[in-house]
Amino acid sequence: MKVFSDRAEADEEYDDIGVNAPGWRDWKWQVAHTVRDLTTLERVLGINFPEDERRRLVETIEKFPLAVTPYYLSLIKTDDYANDPVYRQAVPSPDELIIESCELEDPLAEESDSPVPGITHRYPDRVLFLVSNVCAMYCRHCTRKRRVGDRDRIPTWEEMEAGIAYIRDHPEVRDVLLSGGDPLMLPDDLLDRLLTQLRQIPHVEVIRIGSRTPVVLPFRITDALVTILKKHQPIWLNTHFNHPQEITPTSEQALAKLSDGGIPLGNQSVLLAGVNDCPRIMKALVQKLVKNRVRPYYLYQCDLSEGLSHFRTPVGKGIEIIENLIGHTSGFAVPTYVIDAPGGGGKIPVMPTYLISYSTNKVILRNYEGVITTYQEPDHYTSIFCDRNCKDCSLQLNLSGGEEQHVVGIARLLSDYDETTALVPTDSERIARRDDEEE
Ligand SMILES: *Cc1c(COP(=O)(O)O)cnc(C)c1O
Repeated sequence: MKVFSDRAEADEEYDDIGVNAPGWRDWKWQVAHTVRDLTTLERVLGINFPEDERRRLVETIEKFPLAVTPYYLSLIKTDDYANDPVYRQAVPSPDELIIESCELEDPLAEESDSPVPGITHRYPDRVLFLVSNVCAMYCRHCTRKRRVGDRDRIPTWEEMEAGIAYIRDHPEVRDVLLSGGDPLMLPDDLLDRLLTQLRQIPHVEVIRIGSRTPVVLPFRITDALVTILKKHQPIWLNTHFNHPQEITPTSEQALAKLSDGGIPLGNQSVLLAGVNDCPRIMKALVQKLVKNRVRPYYLYQCDLSEGLSHFRTPVGKGIEIIENLIGHTSGFAVPTYVIDAPGGGGKIPVMPTYLISYSTNKVILRNYEGVITTYQEPDHYTSIFCDRNCKDCSLQLNLSGGEEQHVVGIARLLSDYDETTALVPTDSERIARRDDEEE
């Protein structure tokens, strides 16, 4: 991609970068015409940044590069661009240069939980597999901002094979989550090859793809692509709409193609100040998503990645949004609000509190309207003592697999068949004192 040194040169090259350009609906044309410099951006949007702001923007782009598809740029309403939700996600802000002391390059410790390059194995039965460093658009709020700098380097097939080998060697992995970068920026044949290899692993039950192409490059969802995905079912796809303005007739067509191809669709939004930190906007978004057969999956609290402080909201804003959804609209339109724990603790759901109090025979609940109600507990309930001796169990679930005995975390404390009664931090001073005394 060329970076233009002056406006006249850019004008000449991009005479026809608008919606009437002959290549507009061709995703490769969109990728080839991705806007990566300020001069072209100003020209396309018809704006001129003040000298001082422009200087700071140049500095920002040097640290966190700019890339936006002409399609996504066309969604910006330029009359009040500074407050436009698409603009704020696509165009850098000098605020990105502010790094707060709590912010980290890799806040989710994805690299520490990485047994081989590209794989993050954090949960018992599923892995994250980064198969591409390429994105159609560089989201300003990207949690992997640290990697956006390694411009467009597709991992080699040898590197991908190491990831596939890891999955093959770990029979507990039943769900593989392809992410990046954007996995759908891989060429069709490479994607097909990758999916074929993963499908040959008997214990991989589900493959998931995380892709923002339905939002920023909907033309990527071609019939040929859907044919490939269909071959490797079951494949689930999670996309990333943050604002109803992003759901256009073109993106709706892309979603319909995927749905008609039998790909279940989910959406992961990030809560962003000045973009979607409003219950009315979020309600409009989730309702528009379900109308397009997309199930809102997660609403993420903005991560503590470097340069994102201007996007962060208090957690209370997310709770307020969920409060405005539960009961007020269809249950399946409500995403789970999560904080991805800094340091690699994974996603932690945070939701409004509905259980107000309880005694030994009653729980007190409140509903979305503020009605306070009681639920009477059963008088006679004898819990089945479960020692996981399934042979003797009258329920006869007949579950196979030694996995059954392995239980972790809070579920372990709740179980009757494991004797653990407490989970204690290993770096506790109190425990260290005990160990000292025993010696
Ligand atoms: C989000 C994530 C997953 C998938 O989590 P789900 O809650 O199953 O969607 C898996 N691995 C990593 C490292 C993740 O960040």
